[in-house]
Amino acid sequence: MRCILLGPPGAGKGTLSESLQKEYNICHISTGDMFREHIAAKTDIGKLASSYIEKGQLVPDQVVIDMAKDRILRPDCSQGFLFDGFPRTVAQGEALNVMLREMGSALDAVILLEADDDMLVGRLSKRRVCGKCGAVYHLVNKPPVKEGICDLDGEQLIQRADDTEAVIKDRLRVYHEQTAPLVDFYDNLSLLIRIDGSNKASEVAADVLKALTSRH
Ligand code: AMP
Repeated sequence: MRCILLGPPGAGKGTLSESLQKEYNICHISTGDMFREHIAAKTDIGKLASSYIEKGQLVPDQVVIDMAKDRILRPDCSQGFLFDGFPRTVAQGEALNVMLREMGSALDAVILLEADDDMLVGRLSKRRVCGKCGAVYHLVNKPPVKEGICDLDGEQLIQRADDTEAVIKDRLRVYHEQTAPLVDFYDNLSLLIRIDGSNKASEVAADVLKALTSRH
């Protein structure tokens, strides 16, 4: 399975990735996670990326494209992959098509998670993540058993610096301006599957699995 998860920040791409990864046993590539790892390791890419991420802006295309290409060529992606947060511009989508053609490969589907902006602001501003394993919680819908502590490894939960209300609004504006054109781009390639991302995570996963199964 070679898939892309498309959708605004907070639509549930990360949570859905966990279900799809279990189902298909394919590698999950989150460019946002890759940047956060670079930032934590204080690499040159991390230093460059943080100045964009802090403001809710996109990291320049060429930096993301090079990083994605490097990742997709690794052996663990040979059986399939799930891109989460890439591509985010039409230029990245075109570059991915070229990469896949060079590899003799092609996409099976692009899953679009749809949800309205007010719901996304509510979800993201109450999102907390484990600083160590990255597990995702929501203060109201999915609180941890012990306040502020990850259920899985007992580490401290944190609020991502770009999950504050002001930055969330910038991220949504950037999504509508720069990423939303990919919806038509993939629809024209007959790859798009539209899913209602406002439902519960378990229902979203079930809807996606049903849609993917009926395509094959
Ligand atoms: P995410 O965790 O997917 O929400 O990504 C966090 C941030 O990383 C985004 O707001 C962007 O600043 C940056 N980023 C992640 N993926 C990309 C991409 N494909 N293109 C440009 N910037 C990206």
